[in-house]
Amino acid sequence: MSGTNQSWFDRARRVIPGGVDSPVRSFRSVGGTPYTVVRGEGAYVEDVEGHRYLDFVQSYGASLLGHAHPAVVQALREQAGRGTTFGAPTPGEVRLAELMTDRVPGLEQIRLVSSGTEAVMSAVRLARGATGRSRVVKFDGCYHGHSDALLVAGGSGVAQLGLPGSAGVTAGAVTDTVVAPYNEVPDLDETIAAVLVEPVAANMNLVAPRDSFLADLRAACDRVGALLIFDEVITGFRLGPAGASAHYGVAPDLWCFGKVIGGGLPVGAFGGSATLLASLAPDGPVYQAGTLSGNPLATAAGSTVLELVTLSDYDDLSARVGRFANDLRDAITGAGLYAETPRVGPLVGLYVAREPFVAPTNFTESKVIGENGLYPSFFHAMLERGVALAPGAYEILFVSMAHGDAELARAVSAAGSAAAEIAGGDGA
Ligand SMILES: *Cc1c(COP(=O)(O)O)cnc(C)c1O
Repeated sequence: MSGTNQSWFDRARRVIPGGVDSPVRSFRSVGGTPYTVVRGEGAYVEDVEGHRYLDFVQSYGASLLGHAHPAVVQALREQAGRGTTFGAPTPGEVRLAELMTDRVPGLEQIRLVSSGTEAVMSAVRLARGATGRSRVVKFDGCYHGHSDALLVAGGSGVAQLGLPGSAGVTAGAVTDTVVAPYNEVPDLDETIAAVLVEPVAANMNLVAPRDSFLADLRAACDRVGALLIFDEVITGFRLGPAGASAHYGVAPDLWCFGKVIGGGLPVGAFGGSATLLASLAPDGPVYQAGTLSGNPLATAAGSTVLELVTLSDYDDLSARVGRFANDLRDAITGAGLYAETPRVGPLVGLYVAREPFVAPTNFTESKVIGENGLYPSFFHAMLERGVALAPGAYEILFVSMAHGDAELARAVSAAGSAAAEIAGGDGA
């Protein structure tokens, strides 16, 4: 590939706003020029200049097996040869829906869409249509995609850029959105259609739910007849074979999925009981549609991933990430900085600071660490050592099935050296 990261970024900026098609990819909050990726393989990506990075971005969680897994590539090749979209039902969408509903207790039906944003937006519409109520509770720092009503107090790129929400969203669009602090059960009443939550918050860095938080939310919703919606776009089929609801033993009324279930292609899904899903068109009055929904390429990739990953793969990954989380924290603290690496199964966060701190339990606490100014230096020190973290302090580390012990050890050693450089650099 000819050109440098700089020349590609310059070209990109002329024709694409900010040079990126999603703001989280920009280096706005860490400074510098993004690397432009030409290929990926397993745990690694390679940029236009031929640099190879150990990749902890993994498309923000869309890749569970690592990049360009041969079985996924093969499934895509075969499907592409048979056609990529028809506007008629296909076996592929049935197969993916069966795989998903078989694995997740309580999930009886799903409707496939093309992104996580669409999944959550549609689930909220369904909840409002089914309850006849308007108001939706979301939690500060949880990200649910970029639909108007849900951008308020969002994590991920919204947090990274320090935006309160978004320009272009009318007051009317958010009057029915109520924001509550994560890990506290809000007071609900009979005006609430739904409570929407990331069962493990993974867009404000990682914040695990407190012991009974999800069960208490379930009970609070039941008391007032509000629906509980789990946004499992990250946790679904990543946290474990059946995602967060099974992990915590709390079933929501509606689930939202994305990322992993597309095997690296654009997909989302929302679902729940057959009774509730009967409110959707064509059977019911809640309209929802999509030209590319249930796309054959995407369902082929997603089904391949779900079929390939075994129970023990999930257990192995969690165990590997458990050791990694401890080693990473120890390497950074051993080098003179402070770190916390909270972990739930294979999900792991990374907070770095110059002073001792306690692992955050909500967005307010996460922001104190996120805004301490250290992450940009740490990010760049890691990138120089060939380890790509997300270019923002509010993302988690995505460890794929292709990240073996050797890769994780490399990242730990890079982190120790990066931390030592930063700790030494200020003359402390
Ligand atoms: C990524 C994400 C979304 C949005 O999914 P897109 O495919 O980017 O639209 C929604 N919810 C959560 C929890 C996410 O992490």
